[in-house]
Amino acid sequence: MKLFLTIQREALKRPLIAQVVLETGVLINVERAHIDSNEGWVLIDIPEKDMEQISNRLTELGVEVKKLENAILHDEHECVECGACLSICPQEVFSFDSDFHLVIREERCILCGRCVPACPHQALSIRQ
Ligand code: SF4
Ligand code: SF4
Repeated sequence: MKLFLTIQREALKRPLIAQVVLETGVLINVERAHIDSNEGWVLIDIPEKDMEQISNRLTELGVEVKKLENAILHDEHECVECGACLSICPQEVFSFDSDFHLVIREERCILCGRCVPACPHQALSIRQ
């Protein structure tokens, strides 16, 4: 499961994620990260069973932790199942089932945002 971490500038100087991996033994997959002059954010993927432990420890270390669920919003009424989102997504979030209906595996999403402007019917958006 994915956690969205917001880390303030001062805390960015410390190897927080490495520290939590060492302390807990839980392998943390960093999927995306961004740092600017004031703060940084990191998208991590961890086993669901370890969510509470990792979330609690990061919070103790001053990290704001948000569980990421249903990150991609899909408007079924607008979608015409054209398939444009399939080719643009680097994570293969979108696919068609055997009846050519759109299937969305949102747990794979890394919030890159590419699919949003690619949809000709504005059927996709990212939950803020
Ligand atoms: S690009 Fe938009 S309209 Fe086309 S299948 Fe994807 S969500 Fe539906
Ligand atoms: S935001 Fe990026 S990773 Fe997520 S569904 Fe859209 S294209 Fe795929």
